[in-house]
Amino acid sequence: MPLPTEDNVTDALRSVKLPEAGKDIVTLNMVTGLTVKEASGGVHVSFALEIDPHKSVAMEAIRLAAEKAVYRLPNVLSVSAVLTAHNAAPPAQAGKHREKMVIPNVKRIVAVASGKGGVGKSTTAVNLAVAMAQNGLKTVLLDADIYGPSIPRMMSLKGKPQTTDDKKLIPMERFGMAVMSMGFLIAEDAPMIWRGPMVHSAITQLFRDVNWGERDIIIVDMPPGTGDAHLTMAQQVPLSGAVIVSTPQDIALLDARKGLNMFKRVEVPVLGIIENMSYFLCPHCGERSDIFSHGGARHEAEALGVPFLGEIPLEIAIRQTSDAGDPIVQSQPDSAVAKLYRTMADTIWKAADHD
Ligand code: ADP
Repeated sequence: MPLPTEDNVTDALRSVKLPEAGKDIVTLNMVTGLTVKEASGGVHVSFALEIDPHKSVAMEAIRLAAEKAVYRLPNVLSVSAVLTAHNAAPPAQAGKHREKMVIPNVKRIVAVASGKGGVGKSTTAVNLAVAMAQNGLKTVLLDADIYGPSIPRMMSLKGKPQTTDDKKLIPMERFGMAVMSMGFLIAEDAPMIWRGPMVHSAITQLFRDVNWGERDIIIVDMPPGTGDAHLTMAQQVPLSGAVIVSTPQDIALLDARKGLNMFKRVEVPVLGIIENMSYFLCPHCGERSDIFSHGGARHEAEALGVPFLGEIPLEIAIRQTSDAGDPIVQSQPDSAVAKLYRTMADTIWKAADHD
């Protein structure tokens, strides 16, 4: 059977009518950014529906109807429709003009971000989340790094989350907290090419379609960089703040500055900078060596007027425990570095509380 084309999808969407306008969503030019991506065994369809932001609640039914209409076509593997506001405000004013999602019963949402990959963002997010749980907070760790979801591996979590009767996903449980990951939802061999366009819709959908329960805090492991996913998150998810992870090298700091500026632009408070791999702690003699001339992040934070949250050493045990799926705060809770993570977690929790 032939795979559905963009025209087939558009035709299917003509069956979805807006009652008050008496016309369908295609005729009303509401459908934008339609992509139909071939994969083995079918197609993945994504598109946005441009709506009046004041009607977002009523439009949810239209969004669902649109997804259903496309699912009726043969060989459709997935459909992802998101609502976007037309006349969207430019990012500089996004915080003021865009409507943010409401996540009931969740007190704080904090993003852990970095300017580039490989600086230890995920490792930091995992250990901070475990530290928050050890500090007595009802914690969720959300892995939103769609390009390389590494949390399931770092926490040796396997399988897929269960769903409730009303089709909401139930986060998995690990180390005294709840865990949700894009990695549970996308096949590991999913081509990178459709991850990019998916970032926007997947993150919004993830927030909407998970049964979060009553929580003190969601720690979000962000994708690296300052791309679309960050803007979407910052604009639509009610972030209490962001933490930037950086290594001491200048180049990384320049990237970190980009991340910082992005959150500032969308009016998400930067709660602080963490310097990761700050100095080397010898596992044999315990001596500390400043191989990367550490301290750059502290100076940068001071220069930018952002709190400096602390320095995490480059320590073999941090990498080994991460690789073994048993993060250091969990496996060595009495170590100096575990205490450091708990202190930082406490500072972040207090800083995020700015009602
Ligand atoms: P990112 O999320 O920024 O891409 P990761 O958290 O995946 O980075 O870390 C990259 C690698 O560095 C991993 O192998 C991780 O175990 C290791 N790593 C991260 N932080 C430290 C640290 N402080 N000491 C030693 N190894 C670390």
